Amino acid sequence: MPKVNEVLGSAAAIVKGMSVTFREMMQPTITDLYPDAPPEFEERYRGKHVLQRDENGLEKCVACFLCAAACPANCIYIEAAENTDAKRISGGERYAEVYNIDYSRCIFCGYCVEACPTDAITHGHGFELAGYNTSDLVMRKEDMLAPIPEGAHFPLLVPAAAPSGGGH
Ligand code: SF4
Ligand code: SF4
Repeated sequence: MPKVNEVLGSAAAIVKGMSVTFREMMQPTITDLYPDAPPEFEERYRGKHVLQRDENGLEKCVACFLCAAACPANCIYIEAAENTDAKRISGGERYAEVYNIDYSRCIFCGYCVEACPTDAITHGHGFELAGYNTSDLVMRKEDMLAPIPEGAHFPLLVPAAAPSGGGH
């Protein structure tokens, strides 16, 4: 009798499994036509990072290094510089003069995004990151910066004050 139960149990499992197969066969086929057409991603897909700007075009990154400290792969390299009255790059005191991410080490964990206090770094949907040389996988700030919003003047350049004439 145990053998009969075993056979019946196996048959039930097969029927259950095949029901899933037949149900899926009736569903419309979903095929991405990549590379002829760009694939669609879920909104939260973690692709290549984007360094964001504010509505005035200023870089949101204030070179606080919190993302680099949070990165478990140690793949973020930043060099900070001071904004000046004559030339403003970010909204804070400092900006990232150099901001590199080494994608041969990045594990797309998102810790850098969570650590950023200014929402300066986010994950975009860029995924074509393959290369034949690991040094090609080091992305620079210029490779990741969001475009300057239309109508914004960036960087903010304040012309030096004209020398005051020798008044009396
Ligand atoms: S996603 Fe993770 S591994 Fe990649 S740069 Fe950010 S913190 Fe580092
Ligand atoms: S991206 Fe964010 S966390 Fe990283 S240095 Fe810039 S402001 Fe700081």
